[in-house]
Amino acid sequence: MANYLRDFTSEAPVLSARRPTINEFFLSAYTLSIYTGCEIGCPYCDSWLFGDRPLNETVRIPLDLPQRLSAELKAVDRGDLIAITALSDPYQPAEQIYGVTRQTLQVIADHKQPCLLLTKSASVLEDVSLFQRINEGSLGIVMTTLLTMDPHLAEKLEGKAPPPAMRLEMLTELKRAGVPVGVALLPIMPYVNDTQSTLRAILRACATAGVDFVVWDYLHISNERHRSRVNEILARVGTFPHSYYRDIYQGQSTVSPDYRHDRDVELMNRCDGLNLEPRVPHRIYAGKLRPTNEAALLLRHSAFRDRVQGRDRVASIHRNLAEQIYAGDTRPAGLRESPIASTIREILDRGQ
Ligand code: SF4
Repeated sequence: MANYLRDFTSEAPVLSARRPTINEFFLSAYTLSIYTGCEIGCPYCDSWLFGDRPLNETVRIPLDLPQRLSAELKAVDRGDLIAITALSDPYQPAEQIYGVTRQTLQVIADHKQPCLLLTKSASVLEDVSLFQRINEGSLGIVMTTLLTMDPHLAEKLEGKAPPPAMRLEMLTELKRAGVPVGVALLPIMPYVNDTQSTLRAILRACATAGVDFVVWDYLHISNERHRSRVNEILARVGTFPHSYYRDIYQGQSTVSPDYRHDRDVELMNRCDGLNLEPRVPHRIYAGKLRPTNEAALLLRHSAFRDRVQGRDRVASIHRNLAEQIYAGDTRPAGLRESPIASTIREILDRGQ
């Protein structure tokens, strides 16, 4: 068990600064991290990089976070979604004792603020009624992370998290209660969970469970410290060529464009075959966010499909339009070049 440290000392804002670009995976303009430290302690987690001590050793419990969030929300637009996705799991074991996530969600529900929460823990089911209330007032999405459906590999990668099948059952139950649900296939790690059979098994399981959407991205290796952690994981789960970093990462922090493109094409084709949305579908957030955010997301999601399907020029137009519109320009000059211009115009006109 981790050490729990009741923490009233921080004076920093609980919400991140408003993002310069809308997050196309999580629909978010702001990020909120509830606990600091994560007892689940998955070895691949980026959060190991943010402290000198082990991520799962001490968990700081911000008992006054709900009150501070309530004060900060006075200055936040009701159409900006908050993602509770960063740095720690909001339903890690400390939540059973302190309930800071539940109190935070009550504040979010009271303010009718849209939110998206990412968790591996089935404890989220204890707050189903809270998510129903958030969805009555605005939008509340729950996502879980899946790296594999193989319980043996999952044990090696995230041994303290509930098994993958249980996480999907949790999403099915949330969806049955009317809560939109999605899966983050994050991260895809070369030589660990990037084989066709692993990816196919995850997507099939998601489709069978009836999730509304999936998103995916590839392992970032941001520095040498993280690379040595990744090398330890690779050594623990199987065999890999020592040239992997040179060949796939080409010395950069992210996978090469060719590697990304091949996997993106494969994953998107499989999603299309399974009728599974490879981003949050528009029907889920339509009319629930600030119109400029809704339009920017629709453009970013279109740009993703355009890029993967080889329409690079249109993808670039859509990405640029998304940036301009999210920044508040509701009459961008290039809009007429977009094949979805009339839909975007309609959304923006709603905000006038
Ligand atoms: S549960 Fe999430 S935040 Fe916690 S260690 Fe695992 S990946 Fe990181």
